[in-house]
Amino acid sequence: MSTQVSEISSQRSELTRECRLYSLKELARRAGVTGEFFRSWTVTFEECQTIVCVHRPPPKYICFPHTCIDFQRQLSQCNIGVRRASWMHAPVDSIKREVPNFIVPWVSDDDRENTPLFLSVGPSVVHCAFDLLSSLAFTLSRLEETLTIHRDLHGRFPSAASIASREQFLQRPIVDEYGLAFEQVLTHLLPAWRPEKRTLRVLISHDIDHIGIPFNLREILGHAIRRHCPGATAHDLLAVPFGAGPPTYLSCAQQLAEMELERGLDCEFYWKVSPPGQFDSGYDPFQPAARKVISWLREHGITNGVHPGYETFLNPELLRREVDQLTQLLGPGPLGGRQHYLRWAPETWLHWEDCGLAYDSTIGYADQGGFRAGTCVPYRPWLFFANREANLLEIPLVLMDQILFTGSEQDSLGLLLQLLNRCRSVGGVFTLLWHNTRFVAPRHKRLYTAIVDKVAAPEPKRLDRGKSYDSWC
Ligand SMILES: [Zn+2]
Repeated sequence: MSTQVSEISSQRSELTRECRLYSLKELARRAGVTGEFFRSWTVTFEECQTIVCVHRPPPKYICFPHTCIDFQRQLSQCNIGVRRASWMHAPVDSIKREVPNFIVPWVSDDDRENTPLFLSVGPSVVHCAFDLLSSLAFTLSRLEETLTIHRDLHGRFPSAASIASREQFLQRPIVDEYGLAFEQVLTHLLPAWRPEKRTLRVLISHDIDHIGIPFNLREILGHAIRRHCPGATAHDLLAVPFGAGPPTYLSCAQQLAEMELERGLDCEFYWKVSPPGQFDSGYDPFQPAARKVISWLREHGITNGVHPGYETFLNPELLRREVDQLTQLLGPGPLGGRQHYLRWAPETWLHWEDCGLAYDSTIGYADQGGFRAGTCVPYRPWLFFANREANLLEIPLVLMDQILFTGSEQDSLGLLLQLLNRCRSVGGVFTLLWHNTRFVAPRHKRLYTAIVDKVAAPEPKRLDRGKSYDSWC
């Protein structure tokens, strides 16, 4: 297979063969195909289509058309093409409830609405109605974020500027749903084939933005005034200076871990080492009280990770310095984590990869829950400019605590359950971010307790950080 540099520009798209093969692999993984089965397929790249032979003899084919999409025109008209598509065969009711149809962005003007995503043209051939391999690659790689100048006050791509938010499908893991359609295709062509079971996993991650050291009177008084917890203020003011245990924020981290351990939940804690700044508290994670908690978490089998500071965004040198320092503290890894303030852009994947980090969990929005990259299945992102897969796993962030504080407790739990069910229907990972600082106020504690009780049942499987993926490499 010849190596051809991908030409994704602001003008038009031409996917390379390598990228189409990557998309096919991501689609197959989400359909319950094993790495071994995938490697037995023959893929032929013609000018107008990709033909996948999944069985021979007799040969059974799936054809994916190639479409050239005019990004420049679509973007200038604020009209990125999106189509709804239907199932090939009606699925069982429980799936139909969560996935009534398929949503395909990055389509061409010629693509029709409400056509079946896959169409059987006999017992041996199935045609895909869209250039799904392109659409899937663009969605997973967050291509749209590289094609627009929309940014918020923190330099982030705003959720409101996304196609998914505008077209109201942010809360659908659209790429994972294509996997369900593809599973149906394979079952149609190969009635004896059985997909691998994909089950829901839950990952609770904690960004440790503050630990209560150094002493900050405003934060301490805030426990009583803003967070309605005068006991925490009294503890930090009167007891901590005399060596009576860690400050409130640090003990919150341990309390959260204890709750999650009790419920058998998979959790991680991401630590900062950035100096003080307007958006960084500037705590020292090497401080003995912090080290004690980090060791306690490690002894209990909990993963510690990195939380690079505000200024590391698009600053690879600073990022490397912070990661090097945190590696000294946390050990050689494999280490992963999340960018502070979710300050992220597609090139951040490359910066993290260059630092030797194994996984990132930043791809989500701070103001809306859902599926920023159309998926809740961990994946290695495609780097268009390098025409290769990143050597790093993305574990998308589905929901962040502050999104749940805007409505009633009932509304918050409703949103959480909706997203959890969407993750369950595709066998993905429901990743929740809960800050240790959101465990002081009684209402935050109450909501969090209700949440962990909900997600703990019925015994979600623990996340395998990359091992199951390795069988595909
Ligand atoms: Zn943070």
